[in-house]
Amino acid sequence: NNTEHQIATSVLVIGSGGAGLRAAIELAERGVDVRVVGKRAKADAHTTLAAGGINAALATMDEEDTWQQHAADTIKESYLLANPDTVRIVAENAPRGIADLERWGMPFAREEDGRISQRFFGAHTFRRTSFAGDYTGLEIQRTLVNRATQLNVPMHDTCYITQILVRDNVVFGAYGFDLENGTRYVFHADVVILAAGGHTRIWRRTSSRRDENTGDSFRLAVMAGGRIRDPELVQFHPSGLIAPEDAAGTLVSEAARGEGGILRNGLGERFMSNYDPARMELSTRDRVALAAYTEIKEGRGTPDGGVWLDVSHLPRETIMRRLPRVYQTLLELQMRGITREPMEVAPTAHYSMGGVWVQPEDHSTGVDGLYAIGEAASGLHGANRLGGNSLIELLVYGRIVGEIAARYSAELAAQRRSRVVLGEARAEVDALLAADGQENVRALQRALRNTMTEHAGVVRDEAGLLKGLSELDEIEERMNNVGVHPDLAGFQDLAHAFDLKSSALAARATLEAALERRETRGLSIPSDRGDGLCHFGSDLRR
Ligand code: FAD
Repeated sequence: NNTEHQIATSVLVIGSGGAGLRAAIELAERGVDVRVVGKRAKADAHTTLAAGGINAALATMDEEDTWQQHAADTIKESYLLANPDTVRIVAENAPRGIADLERWGMPFAREEDGRISQRFFGAHTFRRTSFAGDYTGLEIQRTLVNRATQLNVPMHDTCYITQILVRDNVVFGAYGFDLENGTRYVFHADVVILAAGGHTRIWRRTSSRRDENTGDSFRLAVMAGGRIRDPELVQFHPSGLIAPEDAAGTLVSEAARGEGGILRNGLGERFMSNYDPARMELSTRDRVALAAYTEIKEGRGTPDGGVWLDVSHLPRETIMRRLPRVYQTLLELQMRGITREPMEVAPTAHYSMGGVWVQPEDHSTGVDGLYAIGEAASGLHGANRLGGNSLIELLVYGRIVGEIAARYSAELAAQRRSRVVLGEARAEVDALLAADGQENVRALQRALRNTMTEHAGVVRDEAGLLKGLSELDEIEERMNNVGVHPDLAGFQDLAHAFDLKSSALAARATLEAALERRETRGLSIPSDRGDGLCHFGSDLRR
């Protein structure tokens, strides 16, 4: 398929998750011409996986709560690495984010008198997490898709973006292809808003889906001239399933521990007594993940390299009433009845706390006309994300950046494009489509995940990170010899090849930044680099 469509729009949003949709709604409400692209069905973007809730100091349950306390909790939980301006902006604007959702019909759980209910989430001083059962992300995504549809925002969710087009440090569009028929797209745009998610899929066990969070935001931003901050700061959730292989990392909700679940190592010992005897299994996410990781690493894990999470001592009725989703998941994925037997779990990559470097006030990236929002961006979470803060970040910065993008586009006097840059974007896709080497993209993706899992998990040391880098060198060498073979079913093979390129860049960024960080903060082994930035030269732009 040699068809190429040229499309002009004022603003192009890359990513149809919560962040991208919120920005697009703001633009459309302001009458700005905006278009959203995504590489996965918009009704099923990563955002739909979010379960527990979304934070804002509404004080509907605890009158003493304030946005200042929300900010203080966020900074404390971040191990003091969050950017205070970013935190202030999110905490202060959070109630407005909830009000927007409410106005568009979000079915928040409510008290009998109509107030929005709020519940406790770990490390919050007050109850400030709003929710819709344990389907909060799904309902937010539905609400945003409905609103964007009402506003006639074009949403093309089988469109894979391979490059952001930039001339002289000014954005002029993006290049991509359709996943179903291979049609190429040149988007001419004043502004590109990058909302393409994080990079947790570069670990073998991850709570995200197969085809998302492959680090696309990192690669697209770096190739455009942007920078990445704190890529090594990744939140690992303590309990992801080990099997089956293709669903490895599927989360077992924290509620399993909250309801009285017990963690044991392969020797049958209740190991949390050695790490946090006061709180045991109710300790914080980072501590429990670190404890489980240590047990496994030091040879006290289960035969398959995990630990046991057991709820079978709880009354069956409690399990069915309080943990129905966990019960269902284990039956579906493993045919295992958790009322009778323990679950085998291990820490799982869950959230990218770092991301594209942005200014706190407007999420500009240093490349004119390029903004980054949502999990793709950085600044709010430092070394440990406070549960419920990600979803509100999407709402707050989606709105703010939508407003700023509208202004930037309106004030743009003229824009220079570049045939050369466009030609390079085209040539990159052509080259991969013509690639007929022996190496299999999926196998390389797996090798990369193994490397990251082995050498850049919860606990890292210099020797391991260096080994990881040398394995990555080999993988990148083999990447020069891939074969790409789109078939009648679509151009997924081409997409996987680009996923791999992004994953390799995200992996290198993570390993290099982890090497630079010489202290332990939060979940990883972080460092104090003067300006907190990771600068990349041209060697990463492949
Ligand atoms: P995403 O939802 O990841 O969307 C990214 C979009 O970019 C997608 O549409 C994708 O198709 C598109 N895209 C990516 N690459 C390309 C490309 N190359 N070309 C075109 N499109 C591309 N957070 C909370 O606050 N509270 C919770 O209770 C909570 N629970 C969670 C539970 C689970 C199991 C998981 C996995 C996460 C949870 N989170 C929670 C985190 C939260 O869900 C995410 O951080 C958030 O949804 C990210 O939204 P986003 O819009 O930034 O990106």
